[in-house]
Order: sequence, then C-alpha cells, then structure tokens
Amino acid sequence: MNRIFKTIVCWTFLALAVRVGSAGVVVLQNWTPIKIDYVLSHADGQQSRQSIASSDVASIPATESIVVTLGEGPAARNYQLNLNSIHYFGIRNGIPELVHLKLPGVDSKVEATARPPVQASPPGQPRPAEGIYKIPVAILIDSADPRVQTIWEKRVRKRLAEANDIFEHHCRVRFDLVKVGNWTSDPAIRSFDQSLMEFAQKVRPTPARLAIGFTSHYEWIRGEMHLGGTHGALASHILIRESPGQVSEPERLEVLVHELGHFLGAAHTSDKSSVMRPMLGDRKSAAKTFRIGFDAPDTLIMCLVAEEMRSRHIWHPSALSPVAKNAVRGAYMALAQTIPQDPVSTSSIESLGPPPVLAAAAAGPSPEIINGARHVVLAVVRAARENQQLPVRLKDPRAPVWRTNDELTTYYVRRAAVAARQLPPHVGPSAFLLGLGVAMDDSNFVHDKLALQDVWQKIEPNDQRQTRLLLLGTPTMLKRHSVTRHFTISAALVVLSGPQGAEAAGLGKEILDSRSGEGFSFADLCADMAGVMFATHVRDENISLQDVAARFQIEDYVPKMEGLADDLPWDTFLKQYGEAGSENFQRQRADLFHRILALPAYRAPENPKKKT
Ligand SMILES: [Zn+2]
Repeated sequence: MNRIFKTIVCWTFLALAVRVGSAGVVVLQNWTPIKIDYVLSHADGQQSRQSIASSDVASIPATESIVVTLGEGPAARNYQLNLNSIHYFGIRNGIPELVHLKLPGVDSKVEATARPPVQASPPGQPRPAEGIYKIPVAILIDSADPRVQTIWEKRVRKRLAEANDIFEHHCRVRFDLVKVGNWTSDPAIRSFDQSLMEFAQKVRPTPARLAIGFTSHYEWIRGEMHLGGTHGALASHILIRESPGQVSEPERLEVLVHELGHFLGAAHTSDKSSVMRPMLGDRKSAAKTFRIGFDAPDTLIMCLVAEEMRSRHIWHPSALSPVAKNAVRGAYMALAQTIPQDPVSTSSIESLGPPPVLAAAAAGPSPEIINGARHVVLAVVRAARENQQLPVRLKDPRAPVWRTNDELTTYYVRRAAVAARQLPPHVGPSAFLLGLGVAMDDSNFVHDKLALQDVWQKIEPNDQRQTRLLLLGTPTMLKRHSVTRHFTISAALVVLSGPQGAEAAGLGKEILDSRSGEGFSFADLCADMAGVMFATHVRDENISLQDVAARFQIEDYVPKMEGLADDLPWDTFLKQYGEAGSENFQRQRADLFHRILALPAYRAPENPKKKT
C-alpha cells in the first residue's frame, strides 16, 4: 500500500499547511491514463504546481473558488472552480480538459477561459496551520477469536495504519488508536445486524469517538454484503468480520476503509474502482495495480463531514452547516443516481434531515409567493374554462379538442408554468409549485389540516374553489386521478415544509387512507415521492419553468407503477411491512426512489469517464 501511495504524486503537505480554516473543498479526479500537471491558484493569489496520477483523487481545501490552469503559454486554459464542486480530468482531441460533475441541487458552474486567473487581494492574515484531523478510535477483538492477541493486534494495527494513509490522502484525517481491548460476543446470535446491535450495546467507545469491533463468528462468504457494518455516518460503532481464512490482506483493508468511509459519511457508488462499491471481497484489491481509494463524490462528502467534525464538533450528519449539507446532499443524489436498488443512498440523504433552506420557509410562504400562487391558480382556471369550450371531437385531426385524463394534466401543468414565468424569477418556481398544488386539489386532504388550510385559503378563497371544481374535470397521470393529486400536492408541500416534510405528509396520508378503509397504496406513495423530486428540482432551478411550459410530459416525471401494491388493508400492510421505518418498507421505498431517479428528467449527465 505504502509503495502505491509513494508513487502517487499529490500536492505537498507544505502547500496544505497554509490553507486552513477552510470552509470547503474542491475535488478533482484524473480519469485520463496519464499523469496530469496543473497550476493551482487560490483566491488570495497563492499559486502552486500540482500533479495528479491517473485515476487518483485530489481534494483541495479552500475558502473561496480556486482556479486550475492546464497547459502553458497562449494555449493555457483556466478553469474557475466553485467551492464544494467535483471535476474530472479528461482528454478531448488529445488535450487534457476539466469536466464538471454537476451535483443535483447544487449550483456551481465551471468555465474555461483564456484569460489569466484573477489575482485577488494580497494574502491577508495568515491562516492557522491545518494539519491532520485525528479521530480517536478503540479496537476490540472478539474473545472467541482463536488467534493469539499479540499476533492479531500487530496485524490490525498495521491495517489501520494503511487505512490512515488512504484517509489522510483523501481528506486529511487519521484514525488515532487510543485503546485496544476485548469484547465477548453471544455465540447464540447468528445474524450480523444483531451482532452489530449487541456490540453497540455492550461496548462503550470512550475514550475513543468510535469503537471498531472484530468478530470471528461468521465465515467470510465471498460477495456477501455484510463483511462489516455500521449504523451510518458518525455512528459510534463499526463491526467487522475477522474470520481466518482465504481472504487476502488487501481485501480486509478494503473492508476496514469502506466502513470507516461510512463513518465519515461516504455512501455506496457504482464506481468499481472505489472502495465504496457495495460488494467488497471481489478480489479486485488483490491485484498489485489496484488503487484502494475513494471516488470523487465520496471524497467530497468525507472532506466536508471531517471539516465540520473538526471545526464544529458535529455528532450527526443532520447537524452539518447549511452550505456543507447542501453539497453533501448533492453528492448523495449523484451517487444514488448511479446505483439503483441500494438503500444506503436513500438513508444517507434522509440522515441529513430537512434541507436548511426550508427550515426558514417553515414560517410560511412570503406574501409575494402567495400572490404569485394565486396568479397561477387563476391561470389554471382560465385554462380549464377554455378547455370546457372545446368540442369533444372534430374532423380535422389537428384542431384542438376537449382534453381529458393525462392530456388534461399535461395541459394544466404547462399553463401553470407559463403563468409562473410571468412572475419575478425569485417567486416563479415556488409560486408555480404551490399554485399547481392548490389548482389540482379536489380532495379534503388539506382541509382538515389547519396550518395548510390557512395557506390554501389565502391562495384560493372558498367561493373560487367551488368555481374551479366545476371546471377542472378529471386530470390524471398514468390514467389515475389520485396520482395527479398526490404528485401536485406533495410538490406544493415542498414549498411549505421541504422534501422530507412533504413526503412525510404524503406517507401520513397513505397510512390514514389504509386506516379509513381506502387501503395503503405504494402507487400513491410513489406519486408523492415523484412530486417531491419534481418540486425539489424546480425550486433549485435544475428544471426551468421554461422547460416545463414547453415540454412537460408525464412519462418524464412519473415512473411506471406496474407491480406496485395498491389498496393494501391496514393489517396486511402491517404484516408485510411492519411499521413505516421497517427494513422491508425502507427497501420498497428505496426501490421507488430509484425508479424516480431513473426517469428521463433526472438521469445523470453523460459519464465523464467516456470522454477519456
Ligand atoms: Zn457499505
């Protein structure tokens, strides 16, 4: 391992030592087969020459945007890189270039220019020395391990030291071994999850922040998921299977690095070269040339989490500062898009809690947004009236006829977006979502919720609602009226309470439905989640109102719902899924989430790998 790292050329610690108190990071990865040289310029005017080996990752701590210069003289290209962004080196027409990985919901642009980087003000106050952030850990071996303590300890110490080189390289973190001990596992426990729970209950990590337990209880099964486990980012316990057998030391190192990566917030990726691929023990790391390391999005996440542990002593990902949380969420979304069916990505996003922007919105939408939403509702009512006046059928196939079902919904959504585009840009997206939700609502869902009812009535007084309901018709999505209702109301709730709040409200409604005899519907839950995703993207302007107005079509935003259980009676729901937090239920939710992420509207941009 050390040998590999020595051959990887990265910036010197000297260069790092002066960049401190850094609030953020810029992550670069070299997807070309060659070493890339570049000049790095910080906003304070400091410049340094850097190199990055093929496939390696570099994380650059910074407090403002940085400039990367590729090439020399007149051919030099400068890229201004925003804080908390990810870029890949690729090659186009034989010339190295930087390609930006857009993180969903995070706006950062990269532009190549020929002009030299701006030399900002001369260096101000010197920043404090950055150094390495040390996280105290304890290591505990299962008393049932047949190996002699001293042999075992030496081996694990060496492994941790190698893991530390990897973490230091990616995010300037080392796990500092402060305690070595034993723990006794219950031989009757046969499941890994239970074992992890037992370990967390029996062992207190103090004086360490994190307890890493090893158990020899389970035979190492190749390709099996649980080579190690933890309860998520910043959780206090990690358990690793350490049964003796035909497992190479690099593979064991990968398992340790993977779990410690989870501790620093890393989630799974489809990138086969990353230690965060979900299936370890695949013998990849046994190859001499294999680089044990992280992918770029996970590096960004770990850098930000470690920085906030260092500067703000956070104990849970939901405590991240708003800026860091936004970037981490974007990186989780980018990872989740690459790896369908993986529940870790969804639970990682959830662990962040409601987005910070929306905590502020809890006070209720501004009068400007309420007014804007009113304008949108009136536009939909106008559209409904126009539609009612159209003939049912005409001889000329191109002449407009009375719209119904899915076509009617598409028509309303586009007209609502046209109306919202007439509003000021800071009002339009929220007014569109809120207005559309009110305009499509023909249920009593909102009307028994006082806080919502208040907002709803400000946008549409009761007498106007009666008029609208007479004109609205039955707009459907995928031929289901309830899908339209769930999609649009959940989207509106994002403006009022944020994505988590909106989904929770939808879920609450689903559970209520199943109690009152309507039955739990995964299709409606799916519509809720699709509405939340749509709204999040519209609000963050990843999807423009112009696009919605011109091109909205249901298939781009709502996944097919074949095979989703519908109308599940309450007791059947309980029997099959337990409560809403159960593993079965979360797996089903993760499946829905990935169906939505795979929709044309959210498909990840072209993989930059292809460009090399
Ligand atoms: Zn994992």
